[in-house]
Amino acid sequence: MIQRIKGTMDILPNETPLFRYIESVMREEAEKYGYGEIRTPTFESTELFVRGVGDTTDVVQKEMYTFADGDDGKSISLRPEGTASVVRAIIENGRCSDPMPLKYYYIMSCFRHEKPQAGRSREFFQFGTEMFGSESPAADATAIALASSVLKRLGLKNVKLHLNSIGCKECRPAYREALVSYFGQRRDCLCDTCKDRLVKNPLRLLDCKNPECATVAKDAPKTLDHLCDTCNSKFKLLTAALDEMGIAYVVDPSIVRGLDYYTGAVFEFIAEGIGAQSTVCGGGRYDGLVKSLGGPELSGIGFGMGLTRLVLAMRALGLDSIPTPTPDLYIAALGERAMIKAVGITERLRAAGMYAECDIVGRSLKAQMKYANKIGAKYTLIVGDSEIDAGVAPLRNMSDSTQTDAPLDAEKIIELIGK
Ligand code: ATP
Ligand code: MG
Repeated sequence: MIQRIKGTMDILPNETPLFRYIESVMREEAEKYGYGEIRTPTFESTELFVRGVGDTTDVVQKEMYTFADGDDGKSISLRPEGTASVVRAIIENGRCSDPMPLKYYYIMSCFRHEKPQAGRSREFFQFGTEMFGSESPAADATAIALASSVLKRLGLKNVKLHLNSIGCKECRPAYREALVSYFGQRRDCLCDTCKDRLVKNPLRLLDCKNPECATVAKDAPKTLDHLCDTCNSKFKLLTAALDEMGIAYVVDPSIVRGLDYYTGAVFEFIAEGIGAQSTVCGGGRYDGLVKSLGGPELSGIGFGMGLTRLVLAMRALGLDSIPTPTPDLYIAALGERAMIKAVGITERLRAAGMYAECDIVGRSLKAQMKYANKIGAKYTLIVGDSEIDAGVAPLRNMSDSTQTDAPLDAEKIIELIGK
């Protein structure tokens, strides 16, 4: 028996309505905020992610699915995230001279070779948005407001916005030094990965999940105390905009984001009650990214929201039952001639926009009525040879068990069941 690959999932029809509902909320909200949908390839040149995500990140160092392409042996990778691809696409398609700001959203699968656990899989689905061409904190606030309105519409009262600023290329170097000095003095308490981070990517020391590292990190120098005047005033304006929009937040110095390209504002929406993988959405500003991928100087702000974690968060609140459509009519058919008649009527009802079903299995009448009940049919029509000869059949309203005679004619049936 061949099984699915570890860390991937099958989503069956009993769960797809919930996913589809979440996706429809994402699309509607994104479009309300003026974002247009973009679709990019599932795989790209490995080089794009090495440069775009950053070669010191876990994503690039350990988590990418990379392989040589058959034709010329070129290294390609399954996308581990969406931002680098969107940036490549806007540069390659000449969108950087469109009127600003540019606003794009996507719902895509991403691939990371991580240790699978609740809320962490190797193929996962992400709703992402990217906005380019505004350096204003009002743009940051708009991106955050979009994420927040999606979560609000999904009813996720257990989610909190955590906010921080990690500075820019002016103030980051001094902060980085303060961090290296602080953690350097406490090197013995750090895990091996963090000892390595001390040299390669000290900012990431702040979000290590190892409890001992987290204890050391608690009293580490805070980015917000090391911001330059520009970053400082931008952060104040961002919080003022969020206050103005009525969006609650907590300032949280431990939020640093995993990817290299972030500058300035960073944020996470964290859910309570769904276990260790509790960040349902993470994002921030990435002002240097477009240029570093060969485009013009163009600022950016975006976020990624993981669908499976949203499902967990909705489940924790009992918000995961989405009603599935039920048939307007089920035709119970007795015998082959009736079955053929039934598929004809059913087809006409479907063409008229209704959800209709009929027996195509050849069950007994009793079993068919049981099935009609199970699938929640609103009406049933019982058709056998004598009904076909008479041209009328009993039509039963399943909610109140009343019965009328219905002509065996699709138009007349539609009139009777009222749609
Ligand atoms: P984490 O710290 O949880 O690993 P991250 O910083 O790697 O998250 P991002 O790259 O910012 O995550 O991705 C944005 C969002 O995508 C996350 O907040 C999360 O909801 C979701 N996500 C990331 N990796 C996975 C995964 N392996 N499985 C499921 N969802 C994921
Ligand atoms: Mg990660």
